[in-house]
Amino acid sequence: MKQFRNTVIRAGLGALYFTRAHYLLQPIFAGVGAIFMLHHVRPARDAEFQPNRHLEVAPEFLRAMLSHLKSRDIDIISMDEVHQRLAERNFSRRFACFTLDDGYRDNRDFALPVMREFDAPLTVYVASDFAEGSGRLWWIALEMVIAKASRIEVEIGGTAVRLDTTTAAAKQAAFDRLHVWLRGLPGEFDVQREMTALCKRHGIDEAAICPSLCMSWDELKVFADDPLISIGAHTITHCNLARQTAEIASHEMATSRMRIEDALQRPVVHLAYPYGDKVAAGAREFAMAHTAGFKTGVTTRPGMVFPENAGHLTALPRVSLNGNYQDERILPVLTSGAATAMWNGFRRIDAA
Ligand SMILES: [Zn+2]
Repeated sequence: MKQFRNTVIRAGLGALYFTRAHYLLQPIFAGVGAIFMLHHVRPARDAEFQPNRHLEVAPEFLRAMLSHLKSRDIDIISMDEVHQRLAERNFSRRFACFTLDDGYRDNRDFALPVMREFDAPLTVYVASDFAEGSGRLWWIALEMVIAKASRIEVEIGGTAVRLDTTTAAAKQAAFDRLHVWLRGLPGEFDVQREMTALCKRHGIDEAAICPSLCMSWDELKVFADDPLISIGAHTITHCNLARQTAEIASHEMATSRMRIEDALQRPVVHLAYPYGDKVAAGAREFAMAHTAGFKTGVTTRPGMVFPENAGHLTALPRVSLNGNYQDERILPVLTSGAATAMWNGFRRIDAA
């Protein structure tokens, strides 16, 4: 199913490129700018089984995107300036903003050097437990378990399920199945319990994953001192906020902000909702973020920024730089707004 969806998306992007339809769509759907969303930036790896590859782009692809934007005379600005331009309704120049979620060390090692070449700012959204070293990156734990195992046995909805994981294709199918199952579990603790059991059974050191990938507070202190870097909040535990009680959800937002401000001694006024799609962030969370004092909140809902977004600053859409489509030919398609328009049903605003 995932493969099918990927093929359709690729055909869609390809079709937009080859028909040059994005040139026709641009005046309508390009909006006033775009907030790009990335996670990992690091050199491509060889392994055939890389179920989280959509979350990483190579430094060269990021460089190609920045070059493309510069060649189009598009301003590359910080989230502070996105907020300011929207608040002042200053749309005299098109803008792009780069945001990276979770706080991975590769952001410092591979993204920042490329951003420096263009004197381009970036915002990194930190989940405070990740910086603490105690975060649970269950999607990576799942990848590691399946990469290692040749068979996985779990109980899904009271039924014992046995999944073959001997080939790369079988591993991908197992990952897709278990990913859907885990994201559908009622609470974060259920996901953690199941993941911990899987890691134990397959000899994966779950506790080592977070510190091996995420910047610690000490590393973040140095990183955040760079004038190109802004740090935003991404909750404490990286939970699905919409599934939490109002009390827990607002605690996740406000306390993560406080912890980051305490550790880094700088104001944190921008938020990214973990997962960020419709099942993880909706009207309640957008209002909470506003109440908690965040100037902006970014989702993973696809879309360009339009002047109307000024009225929905805690429900901003983003454009994913998806690691599965690192083809330079799609860059003008992405900046035209045609791709996100196709994905979000040709809506300008999606903030409910
Ligand atoms: Zn995240």
